[in-house]
Parts: sequence; C-alpha cells; structure tokens
Amino acid sequence: MSAFAPRSDAELADWLRSRPGRVRLMGAGSRVGRAAPADGAHAVQLAGLDAIERLDAPDQTCTVGCGVRREALDDALRAHDLELPCPGGGTIGGLFAADPLGAASHAGHSPRSLLLGLEGVLADGTAFRSGARVVKSVAGYDVHKLFVGSEGRLYAATKLHLRLKPRPRAESWFAHDGLADAEALARLQALRAEPVAPAAVQLRRDGGGVTLVGRCAGRPTFVRAQLQKHALTESECAWSDHLTAPTGGEIVAGLARASALPGLFAALPATATLLWHGGGRFEAALPDAAASDALLKTAAAHDVTARVVATTAPARRERGSPTDPGAAHLAAALRSALDPHGILV
Ligand SMILES: Cc1cc2nc3c(=O)[nH]c(=O)nc-3n(C[C@H](O)[C@H](O)[C@H](O)COP(=O)(O)OP(=O)(O)OC[C@H]3O[C@@H](n4cnc5c(N)ncnc54)[C@H](O)[C@@H]3O)c2cc1C
Repeated sequence: MSAFAPRSDAELADWLRSRPGRVRLMGAGSRVGRAAPADGAHAVQLAGLDAIERLDAPDQTCTVGCGVRREALDDALRAHDLELPCPGGGTIGGLFAADPLGAASHAGHSPRSLLLGLEGVLADGTAFRSGARVVKSVAGYDVHKLFVGSEGRLYAATKLHLRLKPRPRAESWFAHDGLADAEALARLQALRAEPVAPAAVQLRRDGGGVTLVGRCAGRPTFVRAQLQKHALTESECAWSDHLTAPTGGEIVAGLARASALPGLFAALPATATLLWHGGGRFEAALPDAAASDALLKTAAAHDVTARVVATTAPARRERGSPTDPGAAHLAAALRSALDPHGILV
C-alpha cells in the first residue's frame, strides 16, 4: 500500500478531492492486521494531525486532532486534574473509530458517551462538522455518534470534541484471578449492581480460570470500602486491549451483554481465551478455524454477535454470525450515502 500522511485537515480534503482511488484510514496502525486486505489502496496515516487544539478545564471539554496519542492527552489532562474516563490507547481517532470497549459500560463512560462532536472529511473531500464543542449540544442529527465503531469506513474524523471528567481523588486497580466461571459471574454481577460501579471492568477467561480486572475510583474512603466489600486485591493495572491469535488460530470479536456471558462461556472450547470488556465488546482467541466456526454457528442462540477479525486465511476474514438483515441494510445504506463510490476500505 502506498502511504499519504496529511499535515492538516485541508491537506487531507484536497488530496481526497483529487480522487486518489481506494483509501484505508489509519491512526497509529495497531489494528492494521485486523482489517480485510485492501490491495492497491492508499494508506492514509492520520497520526500527524496531533494537536491538542483546545482544553477548556472549567468546561471539562477539549478539542483534539485525531492523531493525538492517548498518552499525550492523558499527560495534558493530568496537569488540569482532568481525565478522559475510559480505557484504551493508540490515537484518539483510532480509539473512537475502533471502539474497543462497547457502549454498555456500566459506570456510564464509553467513547460513545464522551464524543460531543467532530470535524471530518467525507471520502470525496467534503469537509463537515457535527455536534458541538460543548456539552449542551445543538439540534440536528448526531452524525458524529456514527463515528464510534465505524472502523474508518464512513468518513475521516480530523478533530474530536470530547467530554472530560475531573480526576478522581483516589483510584485503585484490582485483579482477582483463578476464579471458577460461576463465581466470576456472580462477582461481576455484584460489582455491576453497585450504585457507583467500578469505572472500568474487564473479564479474562483462559485455562487458568477467570480473572476480573477493574478500576475503582472516587473518594479515598469510597474506593477502600468498595475494594473491601468485594474482597478485591489492589494490583498494578492489568488491563489488556486485545488478544493475540495462537499459532494457526484465529481471533473472533463481537458483542455480548453481561447477561449473555454464561452462553458465551458455554459456546467456547476449553482451549480458548476470552477477553470481555465491560462495555460489551469481546475477543476470543481460538485454536483453529473449526473452533471459530462452531462459535459463530451458536453465537446467535446465545444473543451474541461475532466475526473473524484475525486469521491467517484471508478468505475467512469477516466471516460472522448471522446479522439482523434490517441492520445490515441500514449499515450498507449509510455507507453508500456517505461514501457512494466505496473509497474507504
Ligand atoms: C492487534 C492490536 C494491537 C494493539 N497494539 C496497541 C499498542 O501497541 N498500543 C496501544 O496503545 N494500543 C494498542 N492496541 C489497542 C488500541 O488501543 C486500539 O485498537 C485503538 O483503538 C486503535 O488505535 P490506533 O490509533 O492504533 O488505530 P488504528 O489501528 O490505526 O485504527 C483503528 C481503526 O480506526 C480507523 N481510524 C483510525 N483513525 C481514524 C480517523 N481519524 N477517522 C476515521 N477512522 C479512523 C481505522 O481505519 C481502523 O479501522 C492494539 C489493538 C490491537 C487489536
């Protein structure tokens, strides 16, 4: 793939208006290996659009270039005692476009709820704005919310307007490992039932049992009490963003609500590793294609949607569980309205 790295929104828009052909949008590129092959497409590297344009501490909002790295934003926010209250790394554009967490985060913060608006460029080079820079938004369609999870297939976001939160006075990560399935699910349910649930929760299941990882945040007394109540041991942050496919195996990713986890556990072979984010997104590392197919076949019965996202057999990529025909039609119609010539691949 040939590469283009714009240094400004205007340069990106001009380049797209020149009809360069098919385009693959990239932030830091950590998910490149997860996308379907795009032979002959131009890679557009957006990591250079990395200015923090506005940080309004009293208003708890900011505007950042899509290429700003998560660590750079965290550093800038720390100086104002603020934070972007959701896990995830890479560039901010890549984090929001990939939405590795899902929207069902119990404590309420996910990329979907934190995106107030954006500036973007359509595949034909048309620049547009959606939403607002501030929490009180203007009327109109929330076109910017479509960006979350769009995986670079609808438009390029060049600037994102984000909602921030004050840094909690105290925070503690916990990791509780070696749990049996039933105990892990009961503990997860108890944590989610708290009036103020942990700010982030993740579940990992492999041959060694289930590990619950999370972050309690708030006043020091509250954090201590929450750890104590749930018998959680404070630990280093053990959050993982993704799984690596075993040799000859595949990664299947999808969505499963917490209530669907028992079914998902039952559908996975004993040799699989599962990583489930509290927002509902999950990844499963499966030993071979047959194991992936078995999961995809039973997924719908367990109220789970899933597709193959990493495999050594390109033809199997995107193979998925049955999708709702209405939702598939809507997604295709959106794509053809925003990118009628199928430029963004
Ligand atoms: C295999 C793997 C490895 C990872 N490694 C790391 C790592 O080393 N460090 C780390 O911090 N995190 C890593 N992550 C997690 C990472 O936090 C998330 O995947 C993140 O959401 C993507 O960030 P990125 O900038 O790398 O995006 P990319 O991987 O470059 O892009 C992610 C998706 O978003 C689209 N996209 C990106 N920017 C835009 C934009 N401005 N407008 C429209 N679409 C856009 C792309 O087309 C792509 O579909 C990894 C994840 C995976 C799956």
